Amino acid sequence: MSHASELIDSARRHWLPVYRPRELVLERGEGARVWDSEGREYVDFAAGIAVSALGHGDPDLLAALHDQAAKLWHASNVFLTEPPVRLAEELVAAAEFAQRVFFCNSGAEANEAVIKLARRWASQQGRPPERRVIVSFRGSFHGRTLAAVTATAQPKYQAGYEPLPQGFRYCEFNDLDALDEALAPGDVCAVLVEPVQGEGGVVPAAEGFLAALRERCDAHGALLLLDEIQCGMGRTGKLFAHEHAGVRPDAVSLAKALGCGMPIGALLVGPALAEVMEFGAHGTTFGGNPLACAVARVALRKLGSREVLANVAARSIQLREGLAALGRDGDLFREVRGQGLMLGAVLSPAHAGRAGEVLDHAAAQGLLLLQAGPDVLRLVPALTISEADCSEGLARLDRALAALRQGQV
Ligand SMILES: *Cc1c(COP(=O)(O)O)cnc(C)c1O
Repeated sequence: MSHASELIDSARRHWLPVYRPRELVLERGEGARVWDSEGREYVDFAAGIAVSALGHGDPDLLAALHDQAAKLWHASNVFLTEPPVRLAEELVAAAEFAQRVFFCNSGAEANEAVIKLARRWASQQGRPPERRVIVSFRGSFHGRTLAAVTATAQPKYQAGYEPLPQGFRYCEFNDLDALDEALAPGDVCAVLVEPVQGEGGVVPAAEGFLAALRERCDAHGALLLLDEIQCGMGRTGKLFAHEHAGVRPDAVSLAKALGCGMPIGALLVGPALAEVMEFGAHGTTFGGNPLACAVARVALRKLGSREVLANVAARSIQLREGLAALGRDGDLFREVRGQGLMLGAVLSPAHAGRAGEVLDHAAAQGLLLLQAGPDVLRLVPALTISEADCSEGLARLDRALAALRQGQV
């Protein structure tokens, strides 16, 4: 038995079987390329699910990690260390709406924090519990903790976990009539939305939708909460996705690319929420961990740089055009959509449900790809990926799609 197959077998036997990893074991990475334990090389269009936004082995991230690792790994929030203090300063300076930051360890926890914060805000306004409804959207994904999965308006993530927390209402995404209907009872305290839905199929908010949400929230005395866990940190071509729409949110949750591979989440809050929680109201042991924050400070500086954001724009055009060209041969894609380097190629009806097969073929051709549901190929490469790596990835995808074209998958 090879080393790889022994590991794969062990994972199958020892992990809770909630994941179905592909049949390979990744060992090291450099930029937008990774190598498996057998020495095979891959172009990485997955980036650890939109996490490794500066690619693998970024020397500045590595230096920050090494520096902090030699000093202090953890202090909890009972004692201050410098990295989380500076990171909060820098996030507040970078996000125009933001006044304060809460650090945690994952996306679900950032959303859990914003849900609790919205509820507490409403309670301080004297609203009874039944008038603290949070509206979220069909196709959304907000994480796997009980409250976050309840906000996630997709039955497949909720089935079997009932009873779910109360006070959530679901609404069609990009549908203002449905939103008005959801707000009509006058019991909504917050609207939670991804500016670009990720897991739900890489679906951007329609032109004007976020601005309309802001206006409706103001009219109904509700908070506008943005989940930028996947689409934030430069992925759409601006540091924060809501900058494209020019809206001022009341809170933004971040995770994924914030630590470029170090586990960290953050909740940024504006004036409405900045003073809602007092000492003891919320917390987490690992929040603001100095290793994660030291790395995230460098990530924030680099991901917000003009060079990186310009590369996102240029590579976005290259990949969109490349995908459209691949799709024309054999009429494979119904649509190529998304924003910046968060792209989805939607399989045409003739190939519906086959995204998983394409991912297997892609891996066999030396390309790491993601799906977003059964019908959408998802590309979320490092924001620093080169033109040559994009071209090579597209060439490998072309070979992976050959089986689909020949109908022999
Ligand atoms: C990944 C993701 C989450 C959950 O983040 P975890 O770190 O997996 O808990 C929440 N919202 C969005 C939009 C995501 O993409």
